[in-house]
Amino acid sequence: MSKIQWIKSRFGIGSRSRSLFVSLLAGMMLFLASCGNAPPAEPPTYTPDVVQRLESYANDIQGMRDRMGELEQLIQDRDWIYADNFIHGPLGTLRQDMSLFNRNLLPQDQSQGRELAREVSRHLEAISLAAQQADYATATKNYREMLTDLDAFLDLLPNAT
Ligand code: ZN
Repeated sequence: MSKIQWIKSRFGIGSRSRSLFVSLLAGMMLFLASCGNAPPAEPPTYTPDVVQRLESYANDIQGMRDRMGELEQLIQDRDWIYADNFIHGPLGTLRQDMSLFNRNLLPQDQSQGRELAREVSRHLEAISLAAQQADYATATKNYREMLTDLDAFLDLLPNAT
């Protein structure tokens, strides 16, 4: 006796509900089979339009990265008022651009992006505070660390293929 015949006799169900039952059963077997043999899901990848969006935000961020020498010079000159103004002026949108960039990263890259963006903001705030206190050592230390974190952040940009 086949399995289906056994089910028919065992449950004694009518032809209409029987065919429904059989197709449900077939569906269930297919589902179980696919669960057992399914290959692991492909990791998500960057689509060209997402890469394009990331490049656009990265361009804005790179533009600010290219001007960091100006901030360094202001710190070197102990020009504290302009150093602080520079952080809130020309670099004022850096945090927002980093956050927009992060939102377009794949989930597995986002935590690293958020962490680096937090670090960059933290160092900039420290430089701003150091400027208000004319604390040269703290300002230069945070400037160097901010550059390292910002360059690591820009490295998150996926290569366009
Ligand atoms: Zn840091």
